[in-house]
Amino acid sequence: MPTSHQAPHQVPNQTPDQTPHQTEMVHALQELLQIKSVKSDPEPNAPFGAGINNALEYALKIGEALGFKTKNIDGYAGYIEFGSGKEMLGILCHLDVVPEGDQWTHPPYDAVISDGKLYGRGAYDDKGPAIASLFAMKALKDAGYQPNKRVRLILGTDEESGSHCMAYYLKHEEVPSVGFSPDADFPVIHGEMGILGVTLTSDFTDRLPDGGIRVLRVTGGKAPNMVPDYAEALLEETTPIEDIVRAFSASRDATVTYEREEGNRVRLRAYGKSAHGSTPSQGINAIAHLISLLDLIDIEIGDQSGFIRFIANKIGTETDGRSLGIASEDAFNALVLNMGLIDIDEQHGSVTLNIRYPITEKEKKFKTAIDSAVRGTVLHIDQWRNAPPLFFKTDHPLIKTLMRVYAEKTGDTTAKPITIGGGTYARAIPNAVAFGALFPGAEDTMHQKDEYIALDDLFKISEIYEAAIRALTE
Ligand SMILES: [Zn+2]
Repeated sequence: MPTSHQAPHQVPNQTPDQTPHQTEMVHALQELLQIKSVKSDPEPNAPFGAGINNALEYALKIGEALGFKTKNIDGYAGYIEFGSGKEMLGILCHLDVVPEGDQWTHPPYDAVISDGKLYGRGAYDDKGPAIASLFAMKALKDAGYQPNKRVRLILGTDEESGSHCMAYYLKHEEVPSVGFSPDADFPVIHGEMGILGVTLTSDFTDRLPDGGIRVLRVTGGKAPNMVPDYAEALLEETTPIEDIVRAFSASRDATVTYEREEGNRVRLRAYGKSAHGSTPSQGINAIAHLISLLDLIDIEIGDQSGFIRFIANKIGTETDGRSLGIASEDAFNALVLNMGLIDIDEQHGSVTLNIRYPITEKEKKFKTAIDSAVRGTVLHIDQWRNAPPLFFKTDHPLIKTLMRVYAEKTGDTTAKPITIGGGTYARAIPNAVAFGALFPGAEDTMHQKDEYIALDDLFKISEIYEAAIRALTE
């Protein structure tokens, strides 16, 4: 049950066209939404805090009340299982939510229904789809259906903060033989690009006081996977550069301002436009423009200028990795590169890249290319992280089955499986793809104020999952 600090439960008004099964589903979701499951400090048996643990225990309790087998995996995850058999179909959802933020019209944890919409943090991401999946299992059980493999609703608790829940699950629990994750978009996402997190660094030992402009500091960016909309540089102006800065700014998408500070110090501020790291060409990279400007200026020669010129010439404002030697394209996607963070002082330099590579490619190719690009320069690879691509061929039985179910249940026979640059929760377990739950063209309020799920969508989603479970287990 929700803890005492939660608002009193809403009793849903059953509308004439709502079945008792649907009313029960709405009620369960309302109670789950009333539990604020934002990550907090760990407590005994609650590695992600009390709120998340309450949500997990509550969801397992509903599963048990519906007559399913349940298990709490040390507070990291849980499952609700239906049927018997050697193999297992996994449905991967999560119960943690991102912080609510402010300016909600309906309080974020009251689970108010207004105009056929159920409001609350987690309504779509991902408590609604989790409850829709659970009630899909219930509908099948009530109908006397016997799946040919076990159907396991896997409940993660840390999707929003790195999916440590699923790392724990995979260490201690059975891997599904096939699965889907209702934590993204319909129809089926059959490909997710590989994601590299690469940090290149350099220690500056060599410097030649040649009378050039001294670069004291360059900073920019908030996160590797966001196009930086701001970057700045602090310089010592030994020869006048104001005209160069103004001419540069006038010729570029980014605006760069020139400000005189005390002594001969000058601060350059570059303003771009933010965008998600998976679509860097939709943004204007403030770091890239600022570094390109520094490359035009007569800066002091040494390791630091080597670092700056490398970035200007090998990365610059390109978002396809051409000059770095990693440009790549397959039948589905082309590689995209975002320069997300930079930090340069007089001793060190570091730049962080977020690279998404085509779903049919392998990491090694890009490692080799970047290794060879930095060879013989002052830079080296300091950090390298890889999330491999997810790729199922469109004629794979899992993709074909889910697409057929989707077409039958929505009447949309023209829909095609899609590929994306982002990473979904499906990647957290093997043999799974993202399937729903947001319909194409539907308003996406996830991670925003007034997150909601339309009750009609909730019921439709549950119907789709019911048909999908049946199709994958008969
Ligand atoms: Zn989610």
